[in-house]
Amino acid sequence: MSLQTDTIAALSTPPGPGAIGILRMSGPDAVRIAERCFESLGPKALQDHPPRTLVYGSLLDSGGAPIDRALCTYSLGPSSYTGEDTAELQCHGSPMVLSLGLEALFAAGARQAGPGEFTKRAFLNGRLDLAQAEAVGDLLEARSREGARHAAGQLAGALSERIGGIWSALVDVMAHFHAVLDYPDEDIDPFRLEELDTALADQEGELSALLATCGRGRLLRDGVACAIVGRPNAGKSSLLNAMVGWDRAIVTEIPGTTRDTVEERCELGGVPLRLIDTAGLRDTDDPVERLGVERSRRAMEEAGLILVLIDASRPAAEEDFSLLRQAVSLAPAILVWTKGDLPAAPCPVGRYEEIGCPAVTVSARTGYLDELCNEISCAFPQDLWGGYGEILTNVRQEEAARRAREAVRRAREALTAGVTLDALLTDVEEALSALGELTGQSVREEVTDRIFAKFCVGK
Ligand code: GDP
Repeated sequence: MSLQTDTIAALSTPPGPGAIGILRMSGPDAVRIAERCFESLGPKALQDHPPRTLVYGSLLDSGGAPIDRALCTYSLGPSSYTGEDTAELQCHGSPMVLSLGLEALFAAGARQAGPGEFTKRAFLNGRLDLAQAEAVGDLLEARSREGARHAAGQLAGALSERIGGIWSALVDVMAHFHAVLDYPDEDIDPFRLEELDTALADQEGELSALLATCGRGRLLRDGVACAIVGRPNAGKSSLLNAMVGWDRAIVTEIPGTTRDTVEERCELGGVPLRLIDTAGLRDTDDPVERLGVERSRRAMEEAGLILVLIDASRPAAEEDFSLLRQAVSLAPAILVWTKGDLPAAPCPVGRYEEIGCPAVTVSARTGYLDELCNEISCAFPQDLWGGYGEILTNVRQEEAARRAREAVRRAREALTAGVTLDALLTDVEEALSALGELTGQSVREEVTDRIFAKFCVGK
């Protein structure tokens, strides 16, 4: 348990008017302060109700005058989010009421909470490990359903359990080594050595499998880079706008309007995407447009998915075929026939089919994107995302897992080379320490400070 002697308070809902605003406190005086700033309107005072019940009453300002009708609830540590005594006031979401209420809590002895301080206290009090605490941040910032589901899985302990399995297997190996060290005069049974090597190899494999999830974690966090390419006026900006649901990019009938790449995030077919609207690909003498065209080509080269747009209402051009061929050679690509609401121009479908790329029809004007949604889901099926919460989602986790794997690898090499057992033990200890950083068992204070500083105030 940490020894926090002060009580923190913060607004835990977004600033600005809303239906409900929540003031939250945690610390040894949380309930006493709540009693001073909240008057129950029923026959019983707040503390005469059992913890975790909602009590109806008046929120009082620092002078004791009522400022709102509110609901109050309290929890007693260690059975609370932070592990400390906590109290929550659910008020009307008026910025003025909430600011007066917060002032009242400060006047009664609470202090303003720092960013992520509630969750940090939960971590310090052992209510969450570090991977779970990071999941709280990921959950708040999730930009896709898959991202939210993974964060929820990690918060429920899926990643911690997976790491725990590796941890406990390595502790077993350590116990074996220590047993051998306790009898230095006896030769180590070669069978025993082989067994230890197998155990280490298994955990090296587990760590490699865990590290292999980083790519998926990155996709969830950053989205699949999705380049929207095509000739000028193919409908790229209109499609981007239809996909994100607002007018992000400028749309005109003048070819060459989009000169730089425009990026926006969205989710389509359950897949988090980072859309990149590119300058129309054509030969041009305009130096600014030419730079844009170059960027478009680069966006295509770096993309995880390429949407090749062809205006279905106009006759196809040779450039369309060559662009499609190029896209298919670079990344998973989808041929998107645009302007499906207009009469289609005759088109040599066979030539596109030869290129062997899925094709869909959309209309940005009517908002018809169903076929595209389905095709994107097929390109990134759900099982690609793996068990919910069992993946590494940030660089800190990736780096610690990598160090753990390197240390296990070194231990195996040492074992094969016949190095003394205590040197070998140092490697396994290092692996355990790196794993401990993942869950926070052996993490340095400045690292935790950095993690929680990224949270919002009130969480
Ligand atoms: P870009 O140059 O490829 O980005 O193309 P824009 O999105 O700027 O669109 C070029 C022109 O096609 C504009 O006049 C749009 O209004 C029009 N356009 C784009 N999408 C559609 C569509 O789905 N249906 C119709 N009828 N017109 C569209």
